[in-house]
Amino acid sequence: MSETHASDKHRSEHPSPSGLVDAAAPEPSVSTAALPVEVIRSAKRKKTAEARMSNGTLVIRIPGRCTKAEEDELVAHFVDKFERSARRAAIDLEPRARELAARYDLQTPRSIEWVSNQRQRWGSCTPDHGTVRLSDRLAEFPQWVIDYVIVHELAHLDELHHNDRFWSIVARYELAERARGFLIAKAGDQDCSA
Ligand SMILES: [Zn+2]
Repeated sequence: MSETHASDKHRSEHPSPSGLVDAAAPEPSVSTAALPVEVIRSAKRKKTAEARMSNGTLVIRIPGRCTKAEEDELVAHFVDKFERSARRAAIDLEPRARELAARYDLQTPRSIEWVSNQRQRWGSCTPDHGTVRLSDRLAEFPQWVIDYVIVHELAHLDELHHNDRFWSIVARYELAERARGFLIAKAGDQDCSA
C-alpha cells in the first residue's frame, strides 16, 4: 500500500458546531451556485441537525434554539457537503483512469473508487490487487489536480516506491509539479508526499 499524504492539521481550526450529525469539518464553500435551501426550526429537535434533498431543495432541519450564526454555519456545512457529493458523482473515475492510462502509458487499474474515510491521504493504491482509492476531499479540486493523483496512483502500479523511476513515470503528466504544489498548499504540510 502506498499513499499520498494530506495533513488534517487545518481541520482543528474549523471545529464542527456541537450536535452536528455529520462529524466532517466544514470546508469554506467556494461555490456560488444557488442550491435552493429551506431551513426548518424545530423546538422538539434538541441537539442534532440534518439535511436531505427534497424536490431539488436542500431541506435542513435544525434545533429551534440555534442562534443565527449557528444556523449560518449549519447551512454552509450542509450546502458544502451536498455540493461535494454532487461533484463527486459527476466525476466518473473508471473512464477517466482508462483515458489517463492510455495517454501516459500506464497500467489500467482493476478498480478505482472514491472513499470518504481517507482523511490522511489523497489517494492510495494496492498494486497486488490493482486497486486505487481516492479521497473524496479531492472532488472539490480542479480536474487537472485530480488527474495528477490518478496518474500518481497508476504509476504506483508499476513502481511502488517514490524513487527516481517512479517520479520519471509521474513526470509524463505535464502538470505533475504544479499539482504537487497545489496539494501541498492544500495540506498545509511540507511533509506531504503527494
Ligand atoms: Zn505515492
